[in-house]
Amino acid sequence: MARSLSNLAAVPRSLDMKALVEKQRAYFETRVTLPLHWRREQLLALERAARKYEAEILDALKADLSKSPEEAYLTEVGNIYGEIKTALKNVKAWMEPRRGSAPLIIQPARAYQYADPLGVTLIISPWNYPYQLSMAPLIGALAAGCTAVLKPSELSPATSEVLKRMLGEAFPAEVVSVVEGGVEASQALLAERWDLIFFTGGTQVGRVVAEAAARHLTPTVLELGGKSPCIVDRSADLEITARRIAWGKYVNAGQTCVAPDYVLIPPELKGRFVDLLQKAVRSFYGADVSTSGDYGRIVSPRHFERISALAADGQIAFGGERDAPSRYFAPTVITDAPLSSPLMQEEIFGPLLPLVDCPGIDDAIRFVRSRPKPLALYTFARDAAVNERVLTETSSGGAVTNDVCVHFAAEGLPFGGVGESGLGGYHGQASFDAFSHKKSVVKRPFLLDMKLRYPPYGGKLGLL
Ligand code: NAD
Repeated sequence: MARSLSNLAAVPRSLDMKALVEKQRAYFETRVTLPLHWRREQLLALERAARKYEAEILDALKADLSKSPEEAYLTEVGNIYGEIKTALKNVKAWMEPRRGSAPLIIQPARAYQYADPLGVTLIISPWNYPYQLSMAPLIGALAAGCTAVLKPSELSPATSEVLKRMLGEAFPAEVVSVVEGGVEASQALLAERWDLIFFTGGTQVGRVVAEAAARHLTPTVLELGGKSPCIVDRSADLEITARRIAWGKYVNAGQTCVAPDYVLIPPELKGRFVDLLQKAVRSFYGADVSTSGDYGRIVSPRHFERISALAADGQIAFGGERDAPSRYFAPTVITDAPLSSPLMQEEIFGPLLPLVDCPGIDDAIRFVRSRPKPLALYTFARDAAVNERVLTETSSGGAVTNDVCVHFAAEGLPFGGVGESGLGGYHGQASFDAFSHKKSVVKRPFLLDMKLRYPPYGGKLGLL
């Protein structure tokens, strides 16, 4: 009985998803999304909705992750206004066919790339920047003339609920629709046929998404995670390095995809570096971090337990204090963790920073190259040649010299991973491109129909 009831419960859900996709597809097939004015109207509607719901979004981010409003504005809300503004300003130019070159052999001809909207798209987002990582792909989808179904994370329920209300008010379901829920809802959506799946989340779930997409040969953008290293050279300004790494590591309590995961540092610098990190933490959050309104909390009890287990590897240099009921976990630095330990094998995604002894740049480069390609890499040196060597001899989704995370805000650059840290990129024009198909078009006149290429050849081409 229980079994048939649960089967019955599952059936309407997937039927709902099918109906939703069909509704969006029927709308897309009307071709109403193609013209510039439709795209601009959607972007303007999105901007109006974002401004109207700004206070509710900030409250929701506080409820989900204890984000301070300033931090939430800096890392989520503000850059969405910037992305919408850029799209509104440039979408006309992005839509223009881009000229290519046509070789002599096919002359007279003109070559172009047309940007075709991919169609009906699915956006699956994570909980750590739940507003920003839902809205930024959506901007790309609308600018490119696509419809979208958004599945935000069940672990940030307050933000997901505001997104559902906000987008439900701003758009009819055939243009943008929000489906709340966890793995089950996500898998029901993944069973449908989409024209693009844009997924942001962990590498493991990224594989599940890629497999589901393969069934329909659906293109994917996979924005995944991984262990992003920092390399500290002897020539680095250690104080600024420590302050910048501490900021990038402990913002959002370490739950940032591009957060520094670990630091490779010459052993003789380690003691001073630990002191400087501690000094930076104190200057950000005061002597008792747990009372700071600017320090976040771990998203769920499961993640709190996971991070607590990782903290058991190595020696705690400072931090380690925690409180399970409030999911507070102090900014923590760890030394001497075995390289085979979970702390040094898994993405940390929490406020633990392992320091790894690494005598020189050669060793650091070898270490990074021996592991999966990271989402981000940070290299710190006053000697520009050292940073340049690291940049050219390692592969990562993105990289920054002498700072962390800031490449995420460089709207003119595509943001994404490589290898296990992801596939494809977005932000600014790259978002438009991610949701478009570049169609190669050659335009020929009827003028001059050269007979040379038509059989019978009889050696007239002079090739042999
Ligand atoms: P996650 O992979 O667990 O979940 C992401 C989304 O997938 C959620 O909406 C979730 O409901 C859904 N999901 C979870 N399990 C699923 C399954 N088995 N089948 C189908 N859907 C499923 O990721 P998370 O915990 O929400 O976020 C943390 C991860 O995301 C980290 O690895 C982090 O590095 C990564 N991340 C990457 C970026 C980026 O831009 N590259 C940004 C933020 C987070």
